[in-house]
Amino acid sequence: MAKLLRKRFPFLPPDGTVDHLVVGAGVVGLAVAERLLKAFPDRTTFIVERQVARCSFLASSTMWSGHPLTLPASARRHGQVGQETSSRNSEVIHSGIYYRPDSLKTRLCIRGRDLLYDRCRAYGIGYKNTGKLVLATSRDQLGYLRGLYDKAQRLRDAGIGEVPLDWLSGDDVRALEPDVGERVVGALRSPKTGIVSSHELMEHLEKEIIDSETGELVCGTRVVRIDRAEPSGGGKRGDGSEDGWIVQTLTDDGTGGEGVRTAVLAKSVINASGLNAHHILNQILPESQRLQLHFAKGSYFSYRGPGVESVKHLLYPCPEENVSLSGLGTHLTLDLDGEVRFGPDVEWLSPPLNEEGEDVPDFWESRLAVTDERMELAIEEVKKFLPGVKADGFSPDYSGIRPKLSRKGETAVDFSITHPQPGFISLQGIESPGLTSSLAIGEFVEGMVRREVWGLGRGRGRNVSEAGKLDAWA
Ligand SMILES: Cc1cc2nc3c(=O)[nH]c(=O)nc-3n(C[C@H](O)[C@H](O)[C@H](O)COP(=O)(O)OP(=O)(O)OC[C@H]3O[C@@H](n4cnc5c(N)ncnc54)[C@H](O)[C@@H]3O)c2cc1C
Repeated sequence: MAKLLRKRFPFLPPDGTVDHLVVGAGVVGLAVAERLLKAFPDRTTFIVERQVARCSFLASSTMWSGHPLTLPASARRHGQVGQETSSRNSEVIHSGIYYRPDSLKTRLCIRGRDLLYDRCRAYGIGYKNTGKLVLATSRDQLGYLRGLYDKAQRLRDAGIGEVPLDWLSGDDVRALEPDVGERVVGALRSPKTGIVSSHELMEHLEKEIIDSETGELVCGTRVVRIDRAEPSGGGKRGDGSEDGWIVQTLTDDGTGGEGVRTAVLAKSVINASGLNAHHILNQILPESQRLQLHFAKGSYFSYRGPGVESVKHLLYPCPEENVSLSGLGTHLTLDLDGEVRFGPDVEWLSPPLNEEGEDVPDFWESRLAVTDERMELAIEEVKKFLPGVKADGFSPDYSGIRPKLSRKGETAVDFSITHPQPGFISLQGIESPGLTSSLAIGEFVEGMVRREVWGLGRGRGRNVSEAGKLDAWA
């Protein structure tokens, strides 16, 4: 794909400069851009999103280029940022119990959870601290819950963070949640779990970026090619020399044609392009180091019917034995209006491959439909803990795709936040709990930029690949 793109989009010299260029305005890219703007108010930060949305700015700033572009009015009315994975998830604020204690997922989830609750309270972003029950339907599963409980103690003892959990007997569970069936023999209650309106969160971040003095959100604009820019004065990074990355973009001009090509010199690039992250990263890597993402679809089913009337908590089963945390099991979530839905399940997708053996970009767009077959399987799962639900109350709803660093059957892998080349920071495998972690990921990346890009002393980030195998996830 990298080769094909280079052929299709010949080199274009830059006609503007920006200090930080974030690729992708999902919740993670927005959180990173917002954080960079707060941390470096005198430096320019642009966030580029390929989806057409109601953005402030369409590659027409004097800071960047001279092309005045407009969007079709309809696109401006109907679009929103974060239309990919950030709009297709459970909107759960996770507490941080599921991942290996030394993982980025644990640290960023716990930190992100606390930042997110504070942010929601401070800015009126819709959220609810519902709490959650993880339900055991067998003695074996009680052992699994014991593992989670012990891990939460270890996290506290190691100073990683507080993940309070309470033990409940089966009868305690039914006293709290009368719809839960007799098969449930015990549970852990996680009082820090909740739900958030991901759209209100993203709208808030978008507004912070748009209202800033030195930030811009550039929509309808796809990054198509990235080339290293050599230092003009041989100077060291951070001293104002002209090194960085020449990022070529294609902006939808609303005429139905290919769009308008523009190039900008970015002193640093932050790749937060989600399901497309490997295609962006691979542009700057030698062939031998190129990354392949894997994709696991999660389908949701809305529910209207008996058997859930009194539910107040999010209800999660224990994942089946030997499941490598590709998903947390088909669970019950509530939205902020109290509507019930079940999901997501786990369905691995096999992408079509191009002649270079890479998946065809965005193949998943044609795989988003939720099928009745998946619904049948989900109903079976749900009845194990909510026996009163009726099959005719379920309807196919929406689905989301997890960007995975591990394949089907492999142990789950941590978030990967890397600094593979000077001035290029790349985030890949930002699956769940990426929404919960987003504000903490922003902090983490700011630390990396502070130190690695601007040479400003110790930040919170680490200059290493953080991907690693998780061998004991519970
Ligand atoms: C089924 C499911 C359930 C989940 N549930 C939860 C949950 O309950 N709680 C939780 O914390 N997390 C959850 N997650 C994870 C969470 O949704 C993700 O971690 C998070 O949304 C990732 O955000 P992102 O910004 O990295 O990616 P995205 O939202 O995918 O954003 C990437 C953006 O990059 C843009 N882009 C791509 N290529 C280019 C390009 N070349 N040029 C310009 N722009 C580009 C895309 O258009 C997109 O808008 C869930 C995920 C799934 C799939």
